[in-house]
Amino acid sequence: MLVIKDLYVRCEETLLIKGLNLTINSGEVHALMGPNGAGKSTLAKVLSGHPDYEVVGGEVLFMGQDLLEMEPEERAHVGLFMSFQYPPEIPGVTIAQFLHHALHAKQKAAGETPLSPEVFEELLLKKMHLLGMDPTFKERFVNDGFSGGEKKRNEILQMALLEPKLAILDETDSGLDIDAMRVVAYGVNQLMSKERGLLVITHYQRLLDHIIPDIVHVFVDGTIALSGDKTLALKLEENGYDWVMKEVAANV
Ligand code: ADP
Ligand code: MG
Repeated sequence: MLVIKDLYVRCEETLLIKGLNLTINSGEVHALMGPNGAGKSTLAKVLSGHPDYEVVGGEVLFMGQDLLEMEPEERAHVGLFMSFQYPPEIPGVTIAQFLHHALHAKQKAAGETPLSPEVFEELLLKKMHLLGMDPTFKERFVNDGFSGGEKKRNEILQMALLEPKLAILDETDSGLDIDAMRVVAYGVNQLMSKERGLLVITHYQRLLDHIIPDIVHVFVDGTIALSGDKTLALKLEENGYDWVMKEVAANV
């Protein structure tokens, strides 16, 4: 589904991603952990097509296509989704309007007939219910005045509606209380299937109790320093990242 080969990314004069290799097959859940400033969000943004970042080496294939050649909206249309670590506020645009346009654009690109407003409304309410969101939220402006947790839930609502093939969740759990995190994890798990993939960026093992990863990667200084099974997340929770960095330093 996603193949990243020897990726190098620069922002202004700084090299932020340094020789990254990562393959995600459909049906797999990958967790990406690592210290602040390692480049995890940078990777998510590069995959989504953020214009600040310049790819200076390597290649990325998504569903067999050259991802780096595509515009951000084309990436979304072929099934890539990213939830923001810091979701922006859009005063003046309601959640219902925003999501209706987003879904409409995706359906149009796929040559499908867009949903009527009534059918869309029904679908939206169903997804909001799934995520334990108050139906009145759909008339609120996107993220305007939302708490941190409400913003994160709204990101997952977008995902639930757009049904992407590969979802990248950037610290979706931060700012969520335990109950909200369970609801979000439930929503994510509902979406997962053999045809989909998931890249979860998180600092906390507790999310991975609910969204069970097949593979855990430790991201250090612009690349994946270590990968392992889900027990690696427990080891990181217990011992921090220092030992990984020491091992990496010893092997250089
Ligand atoms: P993480 O998500 O792992 O905490 P980030 O990917 O957000 O790390 O950041 C990696 C490094 O790149 C940080 O030092 C950050 O300051 C820097 N960086 C990220 N985006 C930009 C940008 N647009 N301009 C300048 N520096 C950036
Ligand atoms: Mg980050």
